[in-house]
Amino acid sequence: MNKTIFEKIIDKEIPANIHYEDENIIAIDDINPVAPVHILIIPKKKISTLNEIEDIDINLVGKLFKIAKFLAKKFEIDKSGYRTIFNCNEDGGQTVFHIHLHLIGGKKLGWPPG
Ligand code: AMP
Repeated sequence: MNKTIFEKIIDKEIPANIHYEDENIIAIDDINPVAPVHILIIPKKKISTLNEIEDIDINLVGKLFKIAKFLAKKFEIDKSGYRTIFNCNEDGGQTVFHIHLHLIGGKKLGWPPG
């Protein structure tokens, strides 16, 4: 199966601006930011969509939120506020089929999403 863009970033085949990395997770700037802070927190394990998450992945998915908290503080949006989003499949707006948590902040965000 062809690699997604995120697998290529994880494998260092294409560059990204990396804010956090450990053996299981990488966090990078979104190439097309929708706000002053727009970071993607990506598990290195290939999970295509939220629909494929299994019990064994629960700690990993939980850790994505811990990294979001860490980065929100680092980028000083923890007090002003931010949003974390997983998009799933076509109606959810998912374009890269390797799950990733969007961390978005640094401006007042609109709600509800369209
Ligand atoms: P989603 O639509 O939820 O699947 O989000 C995919 C995100 O990946 C979009 O916000 C894109 O802007 C972002 N993206 C696509 N290619 C790259 C890349 N090479 N580096 C960083 N972010 C990317």
